Amino acid sequence: MCKDLMVVFLGAPGAGKGTQSDVIADKMSMAHLSSGDLFRKAVARGDELGKIVESYMKSGALVPDEITTKTVLTHMNNEGIRRAILDGFPRTISQAESLDKALEADGRKLDAVILIDVPDEELIRRLASRWVCRECQTPYNYPDGPQGARCKCGGELFQRADDKRETVANRLDVYQKNTAPLIEYYEKQGKLIRVSGVGDITEISHRITDALVEL
Ligand code: ADP
Repeated sequence: MCKDLMVVFLGAPGAGKGTQSDVIADKMSMAHLSSGDLFRKAVARGDELGKIVESYMKSGALVPDEITTKTVLTHMNNEGIRRAILDGFPRTISQAESLDKALEADGRKLDAVILIDVPDEELIRRLASRWVCRECQTPYNYPDGPQGARCKCGGELFQRADDKRETVANRLDVYQKNTAPLIEYYEKQGKLIRVSGVGDITEISHRITDALVEL
């Protein structure tokens, strides 16, 4: 049985949190809990939560803290998640405080926060050229659009509504204003580990695993 391990991946949109979460979760037998994926699934189902969060997501705004915190913590609880990468949550100080409290109430704590650092120009370039498989969600990079290309699984590629150029700038502003303060919050707790998110996927994942195996 693997020991409990709760790690947050922090970084701007486009920093590669989702990609790295998948790789590391697999390598280290951890769950990958993405708040964005939980919301996208709710939108796809068209349920009550999906209807509420859809407009926030489309414009690149944050879903209100109360809804987000409840969605993620309930999922964590229901699935009995004790060893996971939290990807995209917390994204505000209020969410981080709620997470700390919930873990503490359960006699647990956050073990580390990995900050995936990527310069702004690179983020904008990556997001505007990201295309995702409708079937299996694999991301691809096509600066000029996929031009008929399909996913390796055969699925159709589409551009997420919030990856369109108009929305990308807004998401980066929202990150600077609401999420960047978490860097200092976790630095003060002595939990922040900075990793460069520039380079190829394998190289970056090695940097992250090297940091995590020390824990
Ligand atoms: P990315 O990291 O590429 O911006 P995500 O998949 O993490 O995308 O999130 C997509 C959208 O879902 C966000 O722009 C926001 O509207 C909503 N969302 C996801 N996580 C949170 C969160 N922790 N708090 C508020 N809104 C969130």
